[in-house]
Amino acid sequence: MKTTKSIKFHTDENFDKTTSVKSFLQNCNKVGNTLLDLHFGSFIETNKYDFINQTKDYNNVFFNIRSHHYQQIQEKVFNMIWVRYDRVIKNIKFDDPKLNYLKYFAFKWDDVGNYLEKKIKKTKNNLFYRQLFWYWSQSQDQIKLEIDTLVLKIIRSSKIPKFKKLVIKVDARTTGFEQTEQAKYFGYWLSIITNTKIKGRYEQVYIPIKWSEYHEEQLDGSRLNNSFIIKWDDIYDRLEIIGSFNVQETSLNPSKPHQDNTLGIDVGVSKLLTFSNGYQVDTQALQKEFERFLQYEKQVKRLESKGLYNSKKYIRKQVQLANKVENQINRCLNNIPEDYQYVVFEDLNFKDKISRKINYLIRRFQVQGIFTKANQKQRHFKIKSINPAYTSQQCRVCNFTDRKNRANQSEFICKNCGYAENADVNASMNIKERFLDVRFKKLKYKGQIKKFLKELFESGQASHNLASQLSTGVA
Ligand SMILES: [Zn+2]
Repeated sequence: MKTTKSIKFHTDENFDKTTSVKSFLQNCNKVGNTLLDLHFGSFIETNKYDFINQTKDYNNVFFNIRSHHYQQIQEKVFNMIWVRYDRVIKNIKFDDPKLNYLKYFAFKWDDVGNYLEKKIKKTKNNLFYRQLFWYWSQSQDQIKLEIDTLVLKIIRSSKIPKFKKLVIKVDARTTGFEQTEQAKYFGYWLSIITNTKIKGRYEQVYIPIKWSEYHEEQLDGSRLNNSFIIKWDDIYDRLEIIGSFNVQETSLNPSKPHQDNTLGIDVGVSKLLTFSNGYQVDTQALQKEFERFLQYEKQVKRLESKGLYNSKKYIRKQVQLANKVENQINRCLNNIPEDYQYVVFEDLNFKDKISRKINYLIRRFQVQGIFTKANQKQRHFKIKSINPAYTSQQCRVCNFTDRKNRANQSEFICKNCGYAENADVNASMNIKERFLDVRFKKLKYKGQIKKFLKELFESGQASHNLASQLSTGVA
């Protein structure tokens, strides 16, 4: 299995020829912004305009630039359209839950019928989907018109987006990255065919690239791929070139789990995730939202008991929050340093002494499922799980395990040895240790784990006593 890594280059400042590249990037941005203007401006006067699938080629009519660059710009524009479109749809609120459901099909109505039929089958004739299907087949033209018109109206009335950063993707058709044989002062050069025509041909610019030991080390004999991202770095006012190369996936020959390549993760409320290397994920915003959701849920329960509540909104809110939790966790997993080959988390089905809140968080937002799903992705680490019984009460120094060790929600102070640590960090370290200690693998039940922890603690105390006796000379 191969994986792609990126590597950054700069131009050699002794040979600065980057001004023409900067104006090339500015030119590309101008084309992109004109396309955005055309798209969000005059061309959407009519409802018949195919808003989403608009990929018309204006290059020959308006711009006449190198077609490979035009394709890349078009792709950027297209992405921007999608982002804007998604945001608008998400913010639209129809009073009718049926319209609210169907709004996600705006400008892509072809599959609605099939989709709903499948949904009905999957949910075993759910009433909502059956009603939706009937409603759709009765009045689809009217629904399409109503939703598309509103989406267009909102898009037309909002500000037209603009590209500000000077960045574009280039590949072998316009760009070369080669070693020079004659040059004394630099090892490599980058050539770019720009959009400027000189005597009927597009100008080609040559830029010397700074090559360092770092690059040599990183590449380690691998060849650079022939597509690059070239970007103007506004802070240093210089050109940045981001290349990529392929390396063999290390997880094919993983080393055995040990202290340095293993990371434990504790799931909590005040910090969603705490890592055994001390890193905590600040989820204040998410936490506030979670608190608000709990409040809202209380309110819903009250109204529901009086038969006054339509649960569609509640379900939607829950789904939204679940997506946020999932995104947050995935973002953290994506940022785990390359050094770690094993990431250990608690099998949440066994999490003990769960507070009401954490229980809610885990159950409602299917945190366990997020980890399971994450494990199917190809990454530089493997996700493992352990039975976490007592990991939050166990002292990682002397193994004394007691509920009282938790001085409060966030502090751990061992009643036996006095070891003090952030409670979540202590737990995440225990999670890691438990995975590394093979003796735990046989222990399935809480009772067995408790007994073993007690043995560990007592044998530690015994050797401690022996050591202090020896050191004081009383054997
Ligand atoms: Zn202790």
